[in-house]
Amino acid sequence: MADKYDVIVIGAGPGGMTAALYASRANLKVAMLDRGVYGGQMNNTAEVENYTGFKSILGPDLAEQMYQSSIQFGADFVYGNVEKVTVDEDGIKHVKTDSGELEAPAIVIATGSQYRKLGIPGEDEYSGKGVSYCAVCDGAFYRGKNVTTVGGGDSAVEESEYLAKLVNNVNIVHRRDQLRAQKILQDRAFANDKIGFTWNTIVTEIVGDGKKVTGVKTHNKETNEDRLVPTDGVFIYIGNVPMTEPFKDLGITDEQGWVITDDEMKTSVPGVFAVGDVRDKKLRQITTAVGDGGIAGQGVFSYIESLK
Ligand code: FAD
Repeated sequence: MADKYDVIVIGAGPGGMTAALYASRANLKVAMLDRGVYGGQMNNTAEVENYTGFKSILGPDLAEQMYQSSIQFGADFVYGNVEKVTVDEDGIKHVKTDSGELEAPAIVIATGSQYRKLGIPGEDEYSGKGVSYCAVCDGAFYRGKNVTTVGGGDSAVEESEYLAKLVNNVNIVHRRDQLRAQKILQDRAFANDKIGFTWNTIVTEIVGDGKKVTGVKTHNKETNEDRLVPTDGVFIYIGNVPMTEPFKDLGITDEQGWVITDDEMKTSVPGVFAVGDVRDKKLRQITTAVGDGGIAGQGVFSYIESLK
């Protein structure tokens, strides 16, 4: 027998926890599911300096505070890896996990995304110690320093421009001989004297002194030249991967797997909402995930009311 709820929130990052808070405070019976520890990507964040209300807070501490807040009105936290979600002819959503099944008339998808990694030596070892996937999050730690950006798309170029306002110098290392980013972004980057480019080049290793990044090893694909380039930080922008495998048959994702919603966080399937990084959106941050969560939590309440 499946456990029955009014709403099942899948993912307990900032988006999911906020949706659970709003829905349970509106007296709904809420399950908040996660396959790991609550907090999502905040658990991988050393310091958060851009969440309003805190000058600076450690990611895991913010996760703990959000969690305590999210369960205060009775939401159940349930461990489980969601494998598949189906919707039956009565509109009930069946959520199959590796430890059982849950069902509800409404779900909130809050499974986030993962930064695509280079998969090279030193990347994991120096993650949070000079390797970053988020300039908005970590750029301020590199004021006056020299950093390397890896990638050639919109994110790599946009974030390099952002970094150039803070750091001494940004070197964009790109595997091709031209950028993929939009023309306007390219023009701005080329005009910025703090941004330099290393073309036709891949980063093969991130090196450090055991505590922090000190350089990158590169390989030029045209000349076959290998170099060790000193740098204080490496920002990697080679794409993001949405965590949407369990929902792919619902027909709510775009061709890259991001969930499409309207301003009320509704997908095209009635009673299926999505919040946070898993959405097709511009700025993937804690504050935007929290905003989405509030809107969806309230929207779920209206949806359940409409079924009465
Ligand atoms: P997530 O935080 O990604 O949470 C998703 C949750 O869903 C996870 O707990 C995951 O375990 C769970 N999940 C996924 N799939 C399943 C499944 N199939 N079954 C069950 N559970 C599942 N943002 C800032 O605002 N400021 C910062 O300083 C900052 N620094 C960052 C530093 C790093 C290193 C990283 C990686 C990110 C940083 N971010 C920062 C971004 C921020 O953390 C994210 O934008 C935010 O956490 C997204 O929240 P979310 O709720 O959408 O998803």
